[in-house]
Amino acid sequence: MTTPPFLGGQDGGPVADAAARRGAPAGTLMGRPTAGGRFGEFGGRYVPESLVPACVELAAAFDEAWADPTFRSHLDSLLASYAGRPTPVTECHRLSEQLGVRVLMKREDLAHTGSHKINNVLGQALLAARMGKGRLVAETGAGQHGVASATAAALLGLDCVVFMGEVDVERQALNVFRMRLLGAEVRPVSSGSRTLKDAVNEALRDWVATVETTHYCIGSVMGPHPYPYMVRELQRVVGDEARGQCRALLEGRDPDVVVACIGGGSNAAGTFAGFVDTDAALVGVEAAGGAALGDGAPGVVHGMRSMFLQDEAGQILEAHSISAGLDYPGIGPEHAHLAATGRATYHAVEDAEVLDAFRLLAATEGIIPALEPAHAVAWLVRAARTGGVAPGSTVLITMSGRGDKDVAQVMEMLS
Ligand SMILES: *Cc1c(COP(=O)(O)O)cnc(C)c1O
Repeated sequence: MTTPPFLGGQDGGPVADAAARRGAPAGTLMGRPTAGGRFGEFGGRYVPESLVPACVELAAAFDEAWADPTFRSHLDSLLASYAGRPTPVTECHRLSEQLGVRVLMKREDLAHTGSHKINNVLGQALLAARMGKGRLVAETGAGQHGVASATAAALLGLDCVVFMGEVDVERQALNVFRMRLLGAEVRPVSSGSRTLKDAVNEALRDWVATVETTHYCIGSVMGPHPYPYMVRELQRVVGDEARGQCRALLEGRDPDVVVACIGGGSNAAGTFAGFVDTDAALVGVEAAGGAALGDGAPGVVHGMRSMFLQDEAGQILEAHSISAGLDYPGIGPEHAHLAATGRATYHAVEDAEVLDAFRLLAATEGIIPALEPAHAVAWLVRAARTGGVAPGSTVLITMSGRGDKDVAQVMEMLS
């Protein structure tokens, strides 16, 4: 396996770097990154020279749009009338009784297209249109981000090209069909291991060649600045809503623990952003076979400095998980920083625990989770049983998506 390209380049350009070296404030946790896109020692903008102007333009366009009440109200109205926001917080009475902790669940599984991904793609598609770019490119592994991107593109009348490794195209035939139904072009990628990281490289290559007309819609809090920051801001609606909803349920208090699963880290980042300034313990849950924070080391891949699974020579390793959405070998840079500061902790769960949690949630609450958030449930079950969470505490868990896409796979694994 070879290390993906885009390892060279600059970290936000010489000006930003000089500012960072002078000790420009890094900002509060989950505030703005430095001008070069740094969260502590992580993040940055490691792209070829030809992409620096596109990243700079995007950062400026996002800042301007995010500060513009017209853009914000347009996005808010799409989130409400199209995506179904606000999503509710459900009190899980029967699960709470079993675990001896009070479990509240933020229901992103009820959003249009079945997960939190719609929040990000609606924001980026609206931004692309505002920038006068009529074409989206996206990468996808399991196909979920491809379907979400194709959905937003259809809604706003944008062209959409989704890069997908050949192996994934075969494994995820249903999502390929969905994307095509939605009017997107799916381009199979035959380089490298023909999976997600190769699709990322092809999408970056396309963007280099078409940057005048194209926006690259990244699916998580990853990639060069401004993506990790921008995607976290687009997902913070999850945490902001949940904070208000928790306070209404808890007589003005915040939960003791806030937990979310981590693929690249966007649903967790959006959730944590709403609670980072409270006393809540923030917990991210990775798949044991893709624990970039547990088992990884610092590196520079896909435009950012972060933590990655790699061998001794620095070659990026393939991640393994029963959940295709969690098998990226890295993690968003802001999570690497939150871990380094100790503000959030990160844990890994095994596939068998995830399957147990999947069944437990279905049987106790009538909610069939996606396999990704079943990881968060699995951690909670373990922590409640082993004292990792104190009895009687209140725990908010983000249900990042619904399980419809995974039931056939689980049925096969259980038979
Ligand atoms: C894509 C996906 C994830 C992983 O992505 P993050 O960026 O870590 O949130 C988690 N849950 C669901 C349901 C997903 O579709």
